[in-house]
Amino acid sequence: MQAEEKKETTVERETRIRRLWEQEGTFQASVANRSDNKPFVFYEGPPTANGLPHVGHAFGRTIKDVVARYKTMQGYLVERKAGWDTHGLPVELGVEKKLGISGKQEIEKYGVEQFIQECKGSVFTYEKKWRSFTEQLGYWIDMDDPYLTLSNDYIESVWNILSHVHKEKLLYKGHRVSPYCPSCQTSLSSHEVAQGYKDVKDLSVTAMFKLKDKDEYFLGWTTTPWTLPANVALAMNPTLMYVRVKRHDKVYILAKSLVNKVFADSVEVLSEHEGREFESVSYTPPFSYVTVDKGHVVVLADYVTEHSGTGIVHIAPAYGEDDYKTVQQNGLSFVNVVDLKGCYTEEVPELNGKFVKDCDVEIIKMLAKKELLFDKEKYEHSYPHCWRCDSPLLYYATDSWFINMSALKDKLLQNNEQVTWYPDHIKHGRFGNFLENLVDWNISRNRYWGTPLNVWVCQDCGHEEAPNSIASLKKLAKGTLHDIELHKPYIDDVECTCPMCSGDMERTPEVIDVWFDSGSMPFAQHHYPFGDLTTFNK
Ligand SMILES: [Zn+2]
Ligand SMILES: [Zn+2]
Repeated sequence: MQAEEKKETTVERETRIRRLWEQEGTFQASVANRSDNKPFVFYEGPPTANGLPHVGHAFGRTIKDVVARYKTMQGYLVERKAGWDTHGLPVELGVEKKLGISGKQEIEKYGVEQFIQECKGSVFTYEKKWRSFTEQLGYWIDMDDPYLTLSNDYIESVWNILSHVHKEKLLYKGHRVSPYCPSCQTSLSSHEVAQGYKDVKDLSVTAMFKLKDKDEYFLGWTTTPWTLPANVALAMNPTLMYVRVKRHDKVYILAKSLVNKVFADSVEVLSEHEGREFESVSYTPPFSYVTVDKGHVVVLADYVTEHSGTGIVHIAPAYGEDDYKTVQQNGLSFVNVVDLKGCYTEEVPELNGKFVKDCDVEIIKMLAKKELLFDKEKYEHSYPHCWRCDSPLLYYATDSWFINMSALKDKLLQNNEQVTWYPDHIKHGRFGNFLENLVDWNISRNRYWGTPLNVWVCQDCGHEEAPNSIASLKKLAKGTLHDIELHKPYIDDVECTCPMCSGDMERTPEVIDVWFDSGSMPFAQHHYPFGDLTTFNK
């Protein structure tokens, strides 16, 4: 009998073809011999090389490869420049772990310069693995000349974009309540928040707020008991009906429609009032940790509903967007009893240094001791957690830089109509909804390893300059700038002179959201508008 010819296994066949492509430079030739053809523009969104590739990358890369090959076969010039996303918290957290340090204080102690060097050194840890993974997938992309978001050229292009945004008056600094990670000590953008929701059990509380000049109580409701020490106001809906009810010799005020829900037994209704009648009524807050110049009064707000709670909402301006706006609109005082680590400050001595989200039970006990706890309830809800470090996020008032996306919304919606989406339901579904609900983009991060925000602020007159290039920074800077490395801490040493008043200008210390880095790729991968633009202008 003749021996059967040994059949080539799938792996053997793949390896043989890969080698052939490599030997013959098939990919490079498929681009080079179409150099005069019409381009089909392909963008490679950058992965991070300080983490290993996973099946999601394999899926995305397969789809991208199919499209690029198809267009090549149709005769288009399909250039495929690889890229690496190199900045941001994931890198910092990896380095913190490696060094056995944690948090911003320890980074400062370790030394920012050394820390940055560690970050820089760590970003290509898995570059070799990515290369072999990409080759094994048969994904054709130019990995020999990739764009790197950490390079001065790339950063300069991002600066050019931000400078343009600043010139258009669409980049502004605001004191705002933003989703904030107390562990990473930085605020997050809404799309980062959307990545980390988890179902958790929390406690809601109905507390008693005694009227200043009457022995009666507002029943104020909150889903965040830990914010009660920073209470500034109670909000009631101006058009909702409220009642004064009597039970066991105590008089309570709450929404009429919620009486049966709040009280298990029957109560005597003393009188009925529209919410607006309570405007500016003063009360004594359950805790007296903070003094306010203006506050501890009832304010009116349309967003208060009778769907849950008591129809009276506790307001603490530092920890909620609605709360913040309400307090501002009514000209009340702003108070904050929580530090940047998410712990109570010494203004709340009993809980000083404790993480606020762990203190709900203690707050409830403290209320009970003061006989101001009316009710508590466990409830399950979806709560945002940090997509990087898993800490529960806080809504927290900080200074941040925003891009005024709301002003661009109509244009973006119009442009979306010109886009052909596959699958088509994304157009008015996930993406359309995202555009409809657009909020201003919080682009600043109070961290170290990232593209530094290119805004210098005059310490005397407040004038801002956002240089669009290294050359324009050199013009503004005091003294002569030679080889400049655009990262922190080096860039922070660059002081400028104010063109308005000749005062000293310092760089605002933040770095920017890494998603702005990767989103700048269509321009920045070509070092636009400074670099070689032959391909770009085709
Ligand atoms: Zn975090
Ligand atoms: Zn000035």
